[in-house]
Amino acid sequence: MDKLDHQSIVNLKSRFFDLFDIDSKSFNYELILREMLYIIKNFLHASEVTYYSANEWNDEWAAEASTNPFSTAAILPYTAEMKNKLLSKEVSRKPIGIHTLEHYDLLIPLKNKDGFYNFFVVQLDGSVQESNQIGTDCLYKLISEEFSFYLIKVQDLLEIVAEEKRYKKLFKVTEKFHSSMDTEGVLRAIINTLKDIYPSLGYYLLLSHDNNTHGDLPIKDLEYDSENLAAMEAYVTGEIQFEYVKESRNSILYAPLKGKQGVYGVLQVIAENSVKFPKKEVEFITLLANTAGGALENAQLYQQSKKLVSDLQLINEASHRLNSNLRLTEMMTYMSNRISISFEAEEVGFILFSSETNSLTVLNGSTDFFRTKAAETYIHYFKEKIKQEKDSLFLGDFSMPSEEDAVYKSIMAVPMMQTGVLKGFAIVMHQLPYHFSFDTFKLLQSLIHHSTLALTNSMLREELEKMVVTDHLTKLYSRSFLDEKLVRSLVEDAEGTFILIDIDNFKAVNDTYGHQVGDEIIIQVANIIMENIRATDIGARWGGEELAIYLPRVPLQVGVFIAERLVEKVRESSAPPVTISCGVSYWMRNNEENYHSIFKRADKALYIAKETGKDRVVVQDAFRTS
Ligand code: GH3
Ligand code: MG
Ligand code: MG
Repeated sequence: MDKLDHQSIVNLKSRFFDLFDIDSKSFNYELILREMLYIIKNFLHASEVTYYSANEWNDEWAAEASTNPFSTAAILPYTAEMKNKLLSKEVSRKPIGIHTLEHYDLLIPLKNKDGFYNFFVVQLDGSVQESNQIGTDCLYKLISEEFSFYLIKVQDLLEIVAEEKRYKKLFKVTEKFHSSMDTEGVLRAIINTLKDIYPSLGYYLLLSHDNNTHGDLPIKDLEYDSENLAAMEAYVTGEIQFEYVKESRNSILYAPLKGKQGVYGVLQVIAENSVKFPKKEVEFITLLANTAGGALENAQLYQQSKKLVSDLQLINEASHRLNSNLRLTEMMTYMSNRISISFEAEEVGFILFSSETNSLTVLNGSTDFFRTKAAETYIHYFKEKIKQEKDSLFLGDFSMPSEEDAVYKSIMAVPMMQTGVLKGFAIVMHQLPYHFSFDTFKLLQSLIHHSTLALTNSMLREELEKMVVTDHLTKLYSRSFLDEKLVRSLVEDAEGTFILIDIDNFKAVNDTYGHQVGDEIIIQVANIIMENIRATDIGARWGGEELAIYLPRVPLQVGVFIAERLVEKVRESSAPPVTISCGVSYWMRNNEENYHSIFKRADKALYIAKETGKDRVVVQDAFRTS
């Protein structure tokens, strides 16, 4: 190297070095690159210096900066052949041998740290060419080395800054992931971070079975279709996948959202007009996707465990309720409401098979729909199905076998089994297809399984109550026994008298002496009744503190006499003293009587007795009323 060259290079170095002497805020790559080109321009007495860099996204060289804003930029393919042609020498002098670069005098290759080769082209001042001051190969080689050296330093610095920014973001988003237990929050954070770092790329989240809506989030279903082979591959293998779509010139990256237990979806990143993703970007996106996968897993596990807890609560609460000796109707109403709310069901029905006949009973507590004509087709269809399969049915898009279309598309039907015998079934419906999740179905099965025993017990108890002949407290007959006898008497006898008895001001007795004494009073009145009727008469506990007597084949006058005697006896002998009121009704053959009218007339008479001062007998016979 001659002395002059050496001095020039020292000079060049110091000018490059000066560029670093700006504060970090204005440390801008484009600006510095342009400044460096101006330094070269001055140094070589050039009229234009233009810098070409290899673009990793596209495998091509493109002009990145120039001292001439109007420079006509060419794009050159980054191929081995081109590399050989342009970069094998220290410097290419005019003619350079590439059509688009013909008007330049020099092409000086530059080394990049990733092994990529960039270059700049120079157009010299006319005066330089005339005075033949063109430099030596050695000088150009030194310029290339210095330029490369400083540019790489600048890039390194900038990369560190950018990297720091990126990883700070990743750190921040990771923090957010771990503080958020909801899936949507995690998904939103992924998208926002990426948009922040690579604003020009497009993003989609491909999720496998996501039934929630997430507002504006770019979510697509992950489906097994041919268009999405790469996405599916990423999902199944858990490995990152790339795809290049020739027609749209898009490069697509699929990063699996991978947790410890599985893959929760795929992040699709689309780079328009690019052939591939640079390594650095792939690394970062992979890292982000993995972090997100872990966070999604946590959120899903959390949501699942919350759901499990609430399911258990439901079963627990239902079991408690069912074991608390509810009446059948109350119990079924409770179940029906609970299922409607917890499962967001529109209709809930409980259908029982009767053992003797082939008929069905819709239990009280079922929603009103099951009492309508429209429900019959459903009930009938599912009765047959359940009888056939003896197993639960879970239908997402039900259609009737006949032509008519089913209004309810989502249907769950669960058999009610008791010691191996099919007792009936529960049916839960919604008009929207695929409304119920499989988890819901499992929960319903468990709920019905747990409640069938309580249900049949409760039914048995009510049947038993009907069969019981004597009232436990008073030892009078039960109401159902009296009912039965009266109905039979209406067929067999010619006449009869019915007396309805209610203790006066009984609430006050309870309030004054307590329930226990109240009960004793009821027993006293019952005993007075038993002492004053014959064995063929039927004295019964009608309900509460109301008692009744049916006197078969007894004419009205006799019945009234008995009632009056009772009123008197109670008034005289009860302790603490109470009085009673009686309503009397009477029937006679040929008078179109039935059980209800006899009871109603007695009830009306009793009402009048109460209204007119109590402690008395009022007769309401069939002949005087309408
Ligand atoms: P009224 O003269 O109009 O009949 O007044 P009342 O206070 O008797 O009113 P009503 O017949 O409507 O009320 C009956 C009360 O009797 C209500 C209930 O608290 C009480 N009762 C019902 N069954 C029993 C029972 O088996 N034992 C006791 N101790 N109290 C009962
Ligand atoms: Mg009463
Ligand atoms: Mg009363």
